[in-house]
Amino acid sequence: MTGLLEGKRGLVMGVANDHSIAWGIAKTAAAEGAEIAFTHQGEAFGRRVAPLAASIGSDFLLPCDVEDRASLDAVFGAIAERWGTLDFLVHAIAYSNKAELKGRYADTSRENFARTMLISCYSFTEVARLAAPLMPAGGSMLTLTYAGSVRVMPNYNVMGVAKAALEASVRYLAVDYGEAGIRVNAISAGPVRTLAGAGISDARLMFNYQRRNSPLRRSVTIEDVGGAAAYLMSDLSRAVTGEIHYVDAGYNIVSMPRLDTLKV
Ligand code: NAD
Repeated sequence: MTGLLEGKRGLVMGVANDHSIAWGIAKTAAAEGAEIAFTHQGEAFGRRVAPLAASIGSDFLLPCDVEDRASLDAVFGAIAERWGTLDFLVHAIAYSNKAELKGRYADTSRENFARTMLISCYSFTEVARLAAPLMPAGGSMLTLTYAGSVRVMPNYNVMGVAKAALEASVRYLAVDYGEAGIRVNAISAGPVRTLAGAGISDARLMFNYQRRNSPLRRSVTIEDVGGAAAYLMSDLSRAVTGEIHYVDAGYNIVSMPRLDTLKV
């Protein structure tokens, strides 16, 4: 490793276990020299995250449920107290009712629409607002999205609508915080087998289909996402903001399955 993030401190939100995309990002950032604080959703996740954090030399763990505003205030209060400032923020949080990640988007309930948008989209805006004052010398904020935001993916449904709003908010936040030297970007990752990914109906089928038909003929790993995230959190990307950066083995550029897979 090259020490790309030497001397930087970052908050990573959304590690559930060692398959989480947020864990791939935290691991890579730590290997590049960053010091990491983690949030986890409740005590059960905390027990899984603690040994992972310890393995990269961190004991800075904070419980946080983004539906609970007080827990968000407590997180940023604790960071202000212990570190004073923050160089980067990673938001890798999403939720929707599994029962609505299948069938028709048209059948999305009012209640699940609102909850999905709050957890998967608005929470990034809220944490950006809380993190910005801790970045007086500038910084980098990153969220995770999926191509179901711009094209219809079977079963992705309301999550695709939430990701479209999340990507739009990346652009608005990039303008709001650009003057302060804070960059705001998203990584659009190809399918990865995680807890959240497994909630989408037929996830395995989509995973295999995209692997077969991506230009690189492979799926992506959490370490692949970690590498791109390290670049976006580092000074190498100092003139990059408001971007949706695809880390999907190139799948998004393809308009049709490979012909040899279609032979009848
Ligand atoms: P994951 O299940 O490992 O992570 C999702 C995280 O969201 C968990 O840590 C969970 O605790 C957290 N979360 C959910 N509701 C929360 C709440 N109310 N408060 C606080 N935290 C909450 O799955 P993942 O696939 O690593 O997901 C991370 C991000 O990557 C998500 O935004 C997801 O949409 C995105 N993404 C995933 C894939 C994929 O194929 N897995 C592809 C592209 C983008």
